[in-house]
Amino acid sequence: MTTNYAHPLSGTLGAEPPRHILSLSGGKDSAALAIYLRDRVPEIEYIFHDTDKELPETYDYIGRLEAILGKPIVRTTPVDSFDHWLTVYRGMLPSNHRRWCTKMLKLKPFEAYVGDGPVINYVGLRADENRTGYISTKPNILAVYPFQDDGLVRADIMRILEESGLGLPPYMDWGRSRSGCYFCFYQQKIEWVRLLETHPSYFELAQAYEEKAVQFGEQFFWCQNEPLRELAKPQRVAKIKADWEKAQARKKANRKALSLVETLGGLEVEDDSHLRDGCLVCSI
Ligand code: SF4
Repeated sequence: MTTNYAHPLSGTLGAEPPRHILSLSGGKDSAALAIYLRDRVPEIEYIFHDTDKELPETYDYIGRLEAILGKPIVRTTPVDSFDHWLTVYRGMLPSNHRRWCTKMLKLKPFEAYVGDGPVINYVGLRADENRTGYISTKPNILAVYPFQDDGLVRADIMRILEESGLGLPPYMDWGRSRSGCYFCFYQQKIEWVRLLETHPSYFELAQAYEEKAVQFGEQFFWCQNEPLRELAKPQRVAKIKADWEKAQARKKANRKALSLVETLGGLEVEDDSHLRDGCLVCSI
């Protein structure tokens, strides 16, 4: 078991022991890590970087996780909202290439919460994935990866969640694969369609942001090169769904056999390899 991590700065900063901190995104892997560490690292602090733009299912999941952990999950809601920062950035909506949302709504609040003392930051990357991402470059923060160090893969994470009674995040019931803001630009087209069908009011809000961006002299689409207004048209929705079905069938056909990692009690677990493109702090 590799949960006894030593912090290299502890000695140099006097006798100050490191704090142990886990950031929750509302995703399944960080939730499973919280449960995994609950008894192994009793002093651990749980935090959730609330952008105030999360899905209602995420808030519900965090609330249920809190009950299971028996410990408060600190919400680091930033003082300045997404809309404030949008004004500061002169109406320039965030995207993969200008990800100010992560910086201002997740990383800055995290670093403010952490302070300058030594901190061990637990990250829920699994042993069966190869993702990287900016977490924090502050020298007092040491990122550690218990699932990778202990060899835990997706099936282990599913088991931890099932056994705890928490289960998967409820947004996965309607086919959304990632946590994070309802308008996150990392969503696949099929996820936008599912957002439209499950939470039309959130889809409308996302569309309103897109249309307002024009007032700032910029044409911006959350979903690559396609305006949400177009994506929401019935024919387009049908095409995206059909394309997705075809892609899934191709993937399945290419797979020689389902391994144990991909099945759990006969239930196929949807491939989440596309999450590689996301943002660790938002979607792990
Ligand atoms: S979830 Fe997406 S939109 Fe929200 S802060 Fe993270 S990267 Fe930005």
